[in-house]
Amino acid sequence: MGILTGKKGLILGVANAKSIAWGVAQACHEAGAELGFSYVGDALEKRVRPLAESLNSTFIEPLDVSDDAQIDQFFDKVKEHWGEVDFVVHSIAFANKDALRGRFSDTTRDDFQLALNISAYSFVAVANRAKGLMKPGGSLVTMSYLGSMRAVPNYSVMGVAKAALESATRYLAADLGEDGIRVNAISAGPIRTLAASAVGEFSRLMEKSARGSMLNRNVTQREVGNSTLYLLSDMASGVSGEVHYVDAGFNVGAGDPGAS
Ligand code: NAD
Repeated sequence: MGILTGKKGLILGVANAKSIAWGVAQACHEAGAELGFSYVGDALEKRVRPLAESLNSTFIEPLDVSDDAQIDQFFDKVKEHWGEVDFVVHSIAFANKDALRGRFSDTTRDDFQLALNISAYSFVAVANRAKGLMKPGGSLVTMSYLGSMRAVPNYSVMGVAKAALESATRYLAADLGEDGIRVNAISAGPIRTLAASAVGEFSRLMEKSARGSMLNRNVTQREVGNSTLYLLSDMASGVSGEVHYVDAGFNVGAGDPGAS
């Protein structure tokens, strides 16, 4: 018996085996959950499907969170397949590469809207559909980063999106709390993934984060997955509206990703 035995959950945002969402999926599977997955486009389906099937998943459906009709269709299929859902992991972000290097003040209106739409509003849109399928005890978790609180070089518009995402987490927690549903965010330390590769000078950011952390290293996808597992499970039944740091203690140290 694992702490998620008998629970059904959606993992949104696996792109490949390096995705944070994949670390979460593995942790949830080992804890006994039945999992459903989303993917964007045919190219990613080829990667996501075998990964999902390796965890015995039978629900693997397309979901582009920029399209309300697709979000509706996706959750209609969830309802058809399972009837209800116990948890949702939102591990999705996107910004134009050009907006993740250079000067933040040069961010265009289009790049700003795109980053905030995919990386922050999508959590609201997903929570809105998911809540109708959740009973009291349901749990949603999203993925954030310290760039929401600090001006991290090159993180730029994504930092603004993460600030919106963390605020949305608190407002969603207030709304959905009325139905006994919990909403939390994990603020993960830097991890080499597809999305991270878009951030300018990411290797430098990783080096600084390792040096400035309490544990003198960076975290792994699986460590983020294990902490997410706790927030999804009944072990965290008293926790909502929280931003939980999984960054080897970097955020409470004197280390600053902006310092040389
Ligand atoms: P990743 O590239 O593996 O995952 C990002 C996912 O977002 C991909 O699966 C991609 O398909 C999905 N996505 C992008 N646009 C989408 C859309 N329109 N509709 C649906 N899905 C879409 O990278 P990751 O690092 O695992 O990112 C997952 C989350 O973790 C993101 O929110 C990211 O900002 C956050 N995060 C990452 C780090 C890091 O250093 N890697 C640190 C803290 C937080």
